[in-house]
Amino acid sequence: MEKFIVVGAGLSGATIARLLAEDGNDVTVFDKRATLGGNAYDYVDKNGITVQPYGPHIFHTEYKDVFEFLSRFTEWRDYEHRVLANVKGRLVPVPFNLTSLEKCFPAARADRIRKILEQEVGEGKSASILTLTDHENPEIRSFAEFVYKNIYYKYTKKQWGLSPESLGGTVMERVPVSVSYDDRYFTDAYQCMPSEGFSAMVNNILRHPRIKLRLKADAKKLLSLSDGVIFYKNKPFRGTLIYTGRIEELFDYKFGQLPYRTLKFKIKTKNTASYQPAAVVNYTASKPYTRVSEFTKFACEQKDKTVIMREYPKKCGTKDMPYYPIPTEENLALYGKYADEAKNYKNLYLLGRLAKYEYINMDVAVRRAFELYENIE
Ligand code: FAD
Ligand code: UDP
Repeated sequence: MEKFIVVGAGLSGATIARLLAEDGNDVTVFDKRATLGGNAYDYVDKNGITVQPYGPHIFHTEYKDVFEFLSRFTEWRDYEHRVLANVKGRLVPVPFNLTSLEKCFPAARADRIRKILEQEVGEGKSASILTLTDHENPEIRSFAEFVYKNIYYKYTKKQWGLSPESLGGTVMERVPVSVSYDDRYFTDAYQCMPSEGFSAMVNNILRHPRIKLRLKADAKKLLSLSDGVIFYKNKPFRGTLIYTGRIEELFDYKFGQLPYRTLKFKIKTKNTASYQPAAVVNYTASKPYTRVSEFTKFACEQKDKTVIMREYPKKCGTKDMPYYPIPTEENLALYGKYADEAKNYKNLYLLGRLAKYEYINMDVAVRRAFELYENIE
């Protein structure tokens, strides 16, 4: 009889399974996909190019313990991510920074705005667009309105079907306006890509004599929950269940479906060594897609072909992949009902982006698994 069941072989499930296995526990990990790494899954195509079919994934973290843990399972390649956006025909860095400012405004006005930003926000600092559009200084407000209109508003409407204001501040804080010439997308201490890819890294995390892997296996078909008891293969399960899938699926949608955004990815191989001037170009105010990623640039690979991916966001239907939880107050309240229901099951632990309905990056997924490991009974 299994002592620990982990549902999901993404970063969350793999990390908790490894920690438990190293502690001498037998763990069975289920994933309904045939692949490892959840949404960070990647493969090498026939031209030797690493492709991430569930969207561009770049590793970055401030957490030394997360970096050190993952470093046991992969070598790294240094990689600093840079993104450009097309603003009125000019490609400018995103996050919108002092270089972007100088490209978008006449020199004298750009200089004046820079000085005010340095004074009000701070040299080298950054601020959320929503605090800048609300700023008491009228020059900052007018600058922020330009940035809001050209960088955030339409992109956010495409991506989420909502305005930046109705989404809640945390989403906009992911990509703040930067009062510096640093054109990197992330400022974290550790920024790198696993040399053999994310799936290879997760494969190494899960390679342990105490971990049994069941791929192409929908755990929900084996599990049911009723009156505080978890049933596994129709028998009461006395072990511990760690669940990283959709929480509403686990509870048979009893309070209704939680809203998500999904993406349609269009992947194309191009007969050219380089398609665009940056790894990612954001289409912030035009086109139906949000961004174009060029995978050879993530790997700093020089090939005679390249692979690009366009992302078309849409509302997530029941058959679509739930990529992004939508953190509005209303949705979080609905999530709360499921979370309360989960508390009735003493041997159930929720973990990860779907089960926690949280818009988290890979490093946070690993960190949360560390925290769960410390608290599991
Ligand atoms: P997931 O990766 O979603 O894994 C959950 C797994 O559970 C899946 O494999 C699923 O098949 C499995 N599962 C679900 N239900 C069942 C079931 N009933 N039975 C069996 N298996 C089941 N993070 C970054 O740090 N950097 C980035 O650049 C980045 N870019 C991203 C781009 C996109 C488009 C998206 C969608 C996410 C991005 N992320 C990025 C976030 C990253 O994907 C997540 O933080 C991370 O994958 C979370 O891992 P997880 O294990 O919680 O969830
Ligand atoms: N965003 C935007 N314009 C940009 C980049 C980001 O409006 O050029 C907003 C948008 O709402 C997006 C959010 O900031 O969904 C977070 O961006 P991030 O790049 O972190 O998104 P992810 O990589 O998770 O899709």
